[in-house]
Amino acid sequence: MNLEGIKEKLRRVRCYHTANEIEMIIKQAQDNEISYLKFMDNILDNELSTRRKNRIKKNLKKSGFPQIRTIEEFDFNFQTSITKRLSKEWFCFDWIEQRSNKIFMGPPGVGKTHLALSLGYSAIMEHYKVRFYTMQDLMEEMILSDDEKGFDIFLKKLLKHDLLIIDELGYLPLKPRYSNLFFQLINNCYEYRSVLITSNKFYKEWGELFGNQTIAGAILDRLLHHSESIVLQGDSYRLKDVSENISRRVYKKQDSPGMVHSTSAKPSLHSPSLNHSKQKIKRNEKLDENNKPGV
Ligand code: ADP
Ligand code: MG
Repeated sequence: MNLEGIKEKLRRVRCYHTANEIEMIIKQAQDNEISYLKFMDNILDNELSTRRKNRIKKNLKKSGFPQIRTIEEFDFNFQTSITKRLSKEWFCFDWIEQRSNKIFMGPPGVGKTHLALSLGYSAIMEHYKVRFYTMQDLMEEMILSDDEKGFDIFLKKLLKHDLLIIDELGYLPLKPRYSNLFFQLINNCYEYRSVLITSNKFYKEWGELFGNQTIAGAILDRLLHHSESIVLQGDSYRLKDVSENISRRVYKKQDSPGMVHSTSAKPSLHSPSLNHSKQKIKRNEKLDENNKPGV
């Protein structure tokens, strides 16, 4: 028995990682004088953890995530419609085990896609298979596959995932044929796979969206039977950055000696959707006063 023979056998039982690292594993065992039991355990741990990492890498690659977002990056002080504690429950993924759905609703920029992506990412880390689509991309793929066998093949592929994320439902109205395809998808997922939808439309608007009240009703019926609907409210996080830039520019100008205070940016700061930036400006004004020379 030689090392090459052992490597060959390891590859035959698909322990490729152990085969590649066997010299190092044996040397470590010899150096540390570990027991046979520990040696065996190390080999299995090594193989299993590499397989897990590779599986996660593969699932992430196939997920279609436009970018990685995590819940750690989510600012719960900005988005107060949900609490950190509530979100923690979602990240246990009991709802995926129970084939239940989640629907995030609200205006643009409130964090719907961020939450969907971070749930998808964590689900993959927890060994689930996840597929992310924007509604537009999903419909395009469905339409392309819309012949006798194509749609079935497409559905079968999709249903291999534990969680299907459909982002931005509501931005484009659907023709009746496409509404019907969407119904078929949701019907096939019903009690079999979890669906997470983000939408800027409330349920009462879905009839118009799908161009047909009956189809919309049938879709909602399947979707909502086992589900949680979450309404996110508040200002757009995207505008937060814009308004902070504006406020910074206003203060720079105020601080510069001899410069006249520009009021041109002011009207937009009074927009009701920019409350956060107004508060920030007030805070900054106080700071500026305290920092005045001689105060
Ligand atoms: P929506 O899907 O509701 O239109 P997004 O989730 O795409 O909004 O959010 C827009 C941008 O703002 C993204 O870059 C997202 O990461 C960020 N964002 C939104 N809400 C928050 C938040 N509460 N904390 C941190 N980043 C946020
Ligand atoms: Mg979005």
